[in-house]
Amino acid sequence: MAQTFDTIVIGAGAMGSAASYYLSKQGQRVLLLEQFELDHQNGSSYGFSRIIRYSYDYPEYVELARDNYPLWFAVEDELGEKLVIKTGGIDFGPPEDDMFQNTIQAVQDSNIDHEMLTLDDAHKRFPQFRFAGNFKIMYQPDSGLVRTSAAVMGHIKLAQQHGAVVKDNCAVQSIKINADSVDIMVNDETFSAARLVVTAGSWVKFLLEQTGINLPLSILRCQLNFMMPDNLNEQYDAENCPVYIAHVRTLFPETVYGIPSHHESGFKIAFHGGEPVNSPEEVNRTPDEDNVANLRKFMKDHIPHVADAPVRQSRICLYTMTPDEHFVIDTHPEYSHVAIGAGFSGHGFKFSTIIGKMLTDIVLDGETPHNDSLFKISRFID
Ligand SMILES: Cc1cc2nc3c(=O)[nH]c(=O)nc-3n(C[C@H](O)[C@H](O)[C@H](O)COP(=O)(O)OP(=O)(O)OC[C@H]3O[C@@H](n4cnc5c(N)ncnc54)[C@H](O)[C@@H]3O)c2cc1C
Repeated sequence: MAQTFDTIVIGAGAMGSAASYYLSKQGQRVLLLEQFELDHQNGSSYGFSRIIRYSYDYPEYVELARDNYPLWFAVEDELGEKLVIKTGGIDFGPPEDDMFQNTIQAVQDSNIDHEMLTLDDAHKRFPQFRFAGNFKIMYQPDSGLVRTSAAVMGHIKLAQQHGAVVKDNCAVQSIKINADSVDIMVNDETFSAARLVVTAGSWVKFLLEQTGINLPLSILRCQLNFMMPDNLNEQYDAENCPVYIAHVRTLFPETVYGIPSHHESGFKIAFHGGEPVNSPEEVNRTPDEDNVANLRKFMKDHIPHVADAPVRQSRICLYTMTPDEHFVIDTHPEYSHVAIGAGFSGHGFKFSTIIGKMLTDIVLDGETPHNDSLFKISRFID
């Protein structure tokens, strides 16, 4: 006999954990299935921190951020734990970088609180950084970090409190979609439900192929590094240092971003990009020295006191990219009782709580009040 639920969610990363929370809060009997242990390190949603911000190169994301922040604060209240740490954020780089230009434009057009800093002012306020003479520097006070593993586990804890059943070490092998239900096979067990939410990160292509669709997703192997400058607890700590995005693609291989240390995590720095891989299984999890060496070149110019600091830890993490780098948050083109959250393209975590809510809205009601115009599956599949 199949065990029956209202909604099954596949994948307990950032998106599946949040969807399970909102679904169970709406009274759905939810089953959340995860192939590994919870909070594992094989996917995209683990570790200390991810950047959260309003400043974006598309007004649609700025609008989404407006809806997103209050949801995080509500989750924090229900959980009784702080997940979003406000640090302020700076974007800087040469003015010809189109993503940076569009970010400044979108922030200005959306009337988001921000300051364009002079070079002198920026150096006084943020002595950790060194800005080149031609750089523009934008400060946005609401940026900060989201505590990654704490947020995923927090959504799961709340989902369980609302009655969700969570099964880890349960890899979904096959999906059968019926006219008004789904059957999900895990080893020799079958779970049935009226609805399905697929949030399987870098593994999603294989699962979706079983439902008749082939999304143009690719996987990038990305490296993030935590530096240990001597004065870690002062200048480079979340109390005193902003999150930062250096729009330096014309000078270095990729955009560089980072996050101050929080609870001695170390000062985070990474390239926004990585090397393509065919599947998560073939990813080499051993960090590369070259990656750090290239970042040290950037640091010498722009964060000089960290440039020679030892690396506390480097980790490998996966981006699942769409061709236009916008998310897929939509129902399956043929089945309105199946919702898909995929292709978060290395910038989805900050929005994970609202994405969980949007997936809940669309799988229960067929639509969401939040702006999902960039995220339609129809841009890839008829
Ligand atoms: C280095 C790095 C830095 C980043 N920085 C930022 C940032 O600063 N700000 C930001 O907003 N975003 C950032 N991101 C992006 C963000 O972390 C991701 O967009 C987000 O975590 C994606 O979550 P997900 O739930 O889609 O995927 P995942 O976290 O990978 O979750 C998918 C889950 O599905 C499970 N699964 C897959 N197949 C099956 C199956 N068959 N059966 C059962 N379970 C299955 C997987 O095991 C996995 O746990 C970063 C990502 C990386 C890698």
